[in-house]
Amino acid sequence: MVSAAVDAGVTRMVTMGVDAARSRTAMALARGHTEVWAGVGHHPTEASPPEIDVLNDLARDPRVVVIGEIGLDFEEAGAPPRHVQVSRLHALCELAVARDLPVSIHNRGAATEILEVIDAHPGLRGVMHYFALEWEWAERFLDLGFSLGFAGLVTRPSRQSLRDVVKQCPGDRLLLETDSPYGNAHKRMGVPNRPAYLIDTAELVADLRGTGLSELAKLECDNALRLFTKMT
Ligand SMILES: [Zn+2]
Repeated sequence: MVSAAVDAGVTRMVTMGVDAARSRTAMALARGHTEVWAGVGHHPTEASPPEIDVLNDLARDPRVVVIGEIGLDFEEAGAPPRHVQVSRLHALCELAVARDLPVSIHNRGAATEILEVIDAHPGLRGVMHYFALEWEWAERFLDLGFSLGFAGLVTRPSRQSLRDVVKQCPGDRLLLETDSPYGNAHKRMGVPNRPAYLIDTAELVADLRGTGLSELAKLECDNALRLFTKMT
């Protein structure tokens, strides 16, 4: 899958951890492939609490470039109660600031609460992954210095308001992602998403912004290297 992505022109990838064990799996993948870096994190839908000390140790690894995936999910049935998720997110953001790493934040139905958490951690930087909201919300995350991660969702015909956000997003805050195996582009519905398919999203985003694909690729490399400061 990694070599298919490289063949398609995707030269740098970040794979995320959703708990300590799977953060280690992400790190193993990153160690085995020069094009892959890892996030260590704890997904908000996980029942168990984050192992902050373990994640803190893992985050020292040179292949770990982000604390993620972390965030709040107020829509998933069976996810921990809201106040539990919020206090866990505070602890993970504290860790990110202490390790001087950016965060990759998952949001479902919790934008107001996430803005409050970000605001409470001076120096916190990161990306709102799989951004799916209107411009009014985009502006508020951009105001806090965050970048927006756009996935295959923007290619779906029903998502005109998201395409408007893509057009308005400042160039230096725009990131592309697949969220694979989820988050397919419109033309690939029904098959598992893969890193190589990032190009589907990139082509549309380049089109929307009136730029060439290679110009967008250069911008994306610059943006990724600026945010994920340990990435080379
Ligand atoms: Zn997510």
